[in-house]
Amino acid sequence: MVSFVISRRRLMLAAAVAPTANISGATCAKAPPVVRNSGAYRFHVGDIQATVLSDGLISGPPSVYASDAPEAELHEVLRRAFLPTDALTLNLNTLLIETGGRRILLEAGAGQTMGPNGGRLFANLQTIGLRPEDIDAVVISHTHPDHIGNLRNADGGKAFPRATVYMPEADWAFFIRGEPDLSYLPVSADFRQRFAAAIKRSVEPVAADVELYRAGAEIVPGLATLPALGHTPGMAAFLVHSGSDQLLLTADLAYHPVVNVDRPWRPGPDRDKDTALQSRRRIFDRAVADKLLVLGFHYPFPGLGRMLKTEAGYAWVPANRQF
Ligand SMILES: [Zn+2]
Repeated sequence: MVSFVISRRRLMLAAAVAPTANISGATCAKAPPVVRNSGAYRFHVGDIQATVLSDGLISGPPSVYASDAPEAELHEVLRRAFLPTDALTLNLNTLLIETGGRRILLEAGAGQTMGPNGGRLFANLQTIGLRPEDIDAVVISHTHPDHIGNLRNADGGKAFPRATVYMPEADWAFFIRGEPDLSYLPVSADFRQRFAAAIKRSVEPVAADVELYRAGAEIVPGLATLPALGHTPGMAAFLVHSGSDQLLLTADLAYHPVVNVDRPWRPGPDRDKDTALQSRRRIFDRAVADKLLVLGFHYPFPGLGRMLKTEAGYAWVPANRQF
């Protein structure tokens, strides 16, 4: 015989999932569920599983990112690209690669060092089922705060407790061992001071066991570093490769494709502007010649696309999304 005894708990559950209706049977208006966009984007480079993990956003005056642009022309270019002229928003696209049984994060992201909209990396890591202790290595292109901020957790300890952290030797010497002269940065003296302090603070927990590398080194099989000097004394671009597949990460050779790729303007924070320009041209030319898939750390998420040569320089062509 079928029992019709229903527990109180079941009744409550049934009430919780039933559509909200009033006594006349009409359904009440209900707020739609909040659907958040994913900050994780998966793809493959040959046999290597790659995932862009967003750490969120930073922003600043457009003239900082396009330091030699005439103001009226810069504003016109931004307006034509449907972008505001008072602040340029930059993404923070870190990349997780899984290869040879190791999980390697390329760039740590800003955390809270450059404003309140960074620090989303850990939530995005969680959405793909990983915790900070699952990361085996973190490889940094250059030691600006937006690339290293997440190395330190809220308690001042290592945010990635098991990870070996790799940083360019020349950046370590300039920003961390020394008292860097940052007068070249097109920002206030106060900002410069906070910028320098954020760098030293972020690397404190990993300073005792950091691995320093020289751009040009192969960090692990499948991950090469390419000299991209100028923005900082030691900046590296990354080349992830597997079989005939390659992915080029351009670090901060350009901040935003609209002002630094489609237009030739130079990032203000480039310390040695001529060397930075040579690096940009050399590496962008390689991207064009080899038709490489490119990931821009600061480009609109997920930051993947290709470069074309144009009469004026280059053009950015975003990659089609894979579902
Ligand atoms: Zn950056």
